[in-house]
Amino acid sequence: MGYVDEVLEKVILKNPAEPEFHQAVKEVLESLRPVVEANEEKYRKEAILERLVEPDRQVIFRVPWVDDNGQMQVNRGFRVQFNNAIGPYKGGLRLHPSVNLGIIKFLGFEQVFKNSLTSLPIGGGKGGSDFDPKGKSDREVMAFCQSFMTELYKYIGKDTDVPAGDIGTGAREIGYLFGQYKRITGLYEGVLTGKGLSYGGSLARTEATGYGLLYFTKEMLACNGIDIAGKTVVVSGAGNVATYAIQKAQQMGAKVVTCSDSNGWVYDPDGIDVDALIEIKQVKRARLTEYKNYRPNSEYHEGKGVWTVKCDIALPCATQNELNLDDAKALVANGVIAVAEGANMPTTLEATQYLQANKVLFAPGKASNAGGVATSALEMSQNSERLSWTFDEVDAKLQGIMVNIFHNLDNAAKKYGYEGNYVVGANIAGFEKVVDAMLAQGV
Ligand code: NDP
Repeated sequence: MGYVDEVLEKVILKNPAEPEFHQAVKEVLESLRPVVEANEEKYRKEAILERLVEPDRQVIFRVPWVDDNGQMQVNRGFRVQFNNAIGPYKGGLRLHPSVNLGIIKFLGFEQVFKNSLTSLPIGGGKGGSDFDPKGKSDREVMAFCQSFMTELYKYIGKDTDVPAGDIGTGAREIGYLFGQYKRITGLYEGVLTGKGLSYGGSLARTEATGYGLLYFTKEMLACNGIDIAGKTVVVSGAGNVATYAIQKAQQMGAKVVTCSDSNGWVYDPDGIDVDALIEIKQVKRARLTEYKNYRPNSEYHEGKGVWTVKCDIALPCATQNELNLDDAKALVANGVIAVAEGANMPTTLEATQYLQANKVLFAPGKASNAGGVATSALEMSQNSERLSWTFDEVDAKLQGIMVNIFHNLDNAAKKYGYEGNYVVGANIAGFEKVVDAMLAQGV
């Protein structure tokens, strides 16, 4: 049996009941075959793949807090510090009822390669909890965040591990978490990113993942002779990534006709109204059913359906495995040109393979959504030098980083004879840098 298959088998055996983690490892290791086979003896001796798939550390803890009725609640908290070969652990905190160890591990594993691709000095980690901020009062969210940080603070620090936002963790949650860290440790330091502008946050961090996704997509299209202007785009999600992806796509002259949340989706033939979306989701924290009140020409549908709408470009920006084989078939039948992932692993393996087999340009999230973490690293730099850069400065750096990521993975794919396969390119380019650092640092 080859080295890759051996390690895949061990991962499944040693980490039962973690399907998302298995899926992420399989996708990465399968695409690393050309590099691994070329270096099999050396990598085996160094147990490189075994070391890559085993996190440095996994912390699981109880998070007790009291709700508005005086009732004690208990959630489970996680921080997985995956790999710090190229810099301090860096990766978001996800707050969603679906969170479990396997989900956090898949996200942490992906983060290692993503962070490497940015060319910035950041390692990979991820964390979160099965707490659901939806429907909770601000006081309840604060009580949870304070309790969560009361345990988490022991494991993080500006030079060791710097968490950020993710699903369910926005500016409000980061604020409460930062306040509690400062209170316990007495340190005013850049231990979290995604902070508010009045206390060490970076301009353009809020927009960075969505904007970065579009900078990457535009470059990928341009290098394939396609102009993004005038294209029809479908987006899933209505959160941080989706909102700013829609905004930037519109600024680039494309027309975005859909968005969605976990209950349903909106079709707006005139193009999604971003201001309305921000008011509904960020200000009122309401559901997308409200969108029709702002745009009477739009349609609201319960359930899933974004991928059935005819489009040139599809941007999944909600959550993992939201675009399956049937969805990929519908997109191809409708003539889609490109799919670029804003979320982490939103496309199933079968769907990815189907899209690639049908010559759809496919951008994997670890490359195309890396703008968020890249800008988080820029926030760390600003905190270290105690300066704030302008929006345009950060945005220009973000554009440069995204264009650079595209060319890095495009070149890696070409080097190994997989031209146009950006999944292989991203995994190889991310892997080579991390492995180089691991080998240099010894066991
Ligand atoms: P948000 O919480 O801001 O938004 C998530 C959106 O996806 C919401 O519209 C939510 O709907 C929807 N959603 C969440 N879970 C599900 C589900 N199980 N089924 C259907 N819809 C769902 O999160 P972000 O925008 O920050 O994150 C979106 C994705 O992007 C995630 O995969 C995240 O890991 C990834 N990502 C985020 C980065 C960032 O900087 N924020 C950076 C890189 C990647 P509802 O409103 O109903 O909850």
